[in-house]
Amino acid sequence: MAESLAFALAENLAAAGLAVDTCYQCRKCSNGCPLVFAMDLPPDRVIRLALLGGEAELLACRTIWVCSSCETCTTRCPNGIDIAGVMDWLKEQAVAKGAAVPEPEVRDFHRAFLGAVKLMGGRLSEPVVMALYTLKGGRWLTKLRRSAAAGELATALGLLKRRRLPLTPPPRLGGAGEVARILRRW
Ligand code: SF4
Ligand code: SF4
Repeated sequence: MAESLAFALAENLAAAGLAVDTCYQCRKCSNGCPLVFAMDLPPDRVIRLALLGGEAELLACRTIWVCSSCETCTTRCPNGIDIAGVMDWLKEQAVAKGAAVPEPEVRDFHRAFLGAVKLMGGRLSEPVVMALYTLKGGRWLTKLRRSAAAGELATALGLLKRRRLPLTPPPRLGGAGEVARILRRW
C-alpha cells in the first residue's frame, strides 16, 4: 500500500505526459538552471522526489514558483524529461490542493497575467497585467507606504515615452469565447 502511494505521484505525472522514471540523476538540469541559486530544491531533486512520492514537500517548495519556465533543463536532459513541464504541473497541483504558497507574489503575477488575457479576449495587455497585479491584496497601498510607487511611475513614463507601453487595447481575437472557456477555472 505504502509502495503504491509512493508511486502515485510519478504515475499521475506520466498520465499527464510528464514521465520522470528514466531520470538517472546526472544533474545536467540543475547545472544549467539559471535560477537554481534562488531555489530550495534543485531541479534534479524535484524529479527525485517526484519518483519517491514526496508530494507534500514538492507542493510546499519555493522552487516550483521560482522556476521561470525557461526550459533550459528540459533541453539539457539526456532522457527527454520535461522538467519545466513538471514544475508547471506541480504549480497547478499546489493551487488546486490549496497548498501554502511560499512565493505569493509569483502566484499573483500568474493570476494577473491570466486575468488580463481573459479580460482582453485572448490578447495580452501589459498595463492591464500591471493594474491587476498592483491592485491584488492591497499591494498598491504597500507600494505607496514604501514610496515605491514614484519609482514605478517614472519607469512607466519612460516606457510610454519610448512607445514600449501601449495604452490602447489590442484587437480582440476571433476565438475569444474559446479562450474564456479554457481560462474559466482560473
Ligand atoms: S537532466 Fe534529466 S536525467 Fe539528469 S538529473 Fe535532470 S531530470 Fe534526471
Ligand atoms: S525551466 Fe525552471 S527549472 Fe528549468 S532551467 Fe528554467 S528556471 Fe530552471
